Amino acid sequence: MALSPSARQQQILTWLQENHTLSVQLLAERLQVSQMTIHRDLARLAQGGQVRKVYGGAVLASPLPETPPPASPRCAMCHQPIPGRATVTIQLLNGDSLQACCPHCGLMLLHNYPDAASILARDFLYGRMVNARQAFFVIGSDVQLCCIPSTLCFASQTDAQKFQRGFGGQVLAFTAVMAHLAAHHRQPHTSQ
Ligand SMILES: [Zn+2]
Ligand SMILES: [Zn+2]
Repeated sequence: MALSPSARQQQILTWLQENHTLSVQLLAERLQVSQMTIHRDLARLAQGGQVRKVYGGAVLASPLPETPPPASPRCAMCHQPIPGRATVTIQLLNGDSLQACCPHCGLMLLHNYPDAASILARDFLYGRMVNARQAFFVIGSDVQLCCIPSTLCFASQTDAQKFQRGFGGQVLAFTAVMAHLAAHHRQPHTSQ
């Protein structure tokens, strides 16, 4: 029975899974091919990372260690996972950056970092990161992603107003929404 090279290599793998280590001589006998052929098969399997050639034979390559999934980023304010649709990034002067789940948390966080270099918020309609200081926010709409009151960012005032007509809430510019959040969620360590 002559097997095709790929069938032979599959058979070798199967045997290796059962025995872990097999000699070239044994494989050649079992498959009734020359040891040279077995060497070529093992070289091919070794190229694919499935086996390791050892002196006179082969061992099954140990499976690659599984890379742990990257820790999902958490909001620097509320420590909840960041859904991503309304992310806010605060860039600090020292080069660090902070991620928040939504403008609600992002702007609350900004109260603690008044000298932040920049604050970017994801435009809720288009998904782009925009300068939050020039953006408009709909606060308290029916669309609640994470924090209450829901606070969503829009680069354009017109978009914010259209959204507000559909989903309610209040359209506020950056300074107004900062004042609103400060008034409703006063931070104990924020001095006036
Ligand atoms: Zn948050
Ligand atoms: Zn949030």
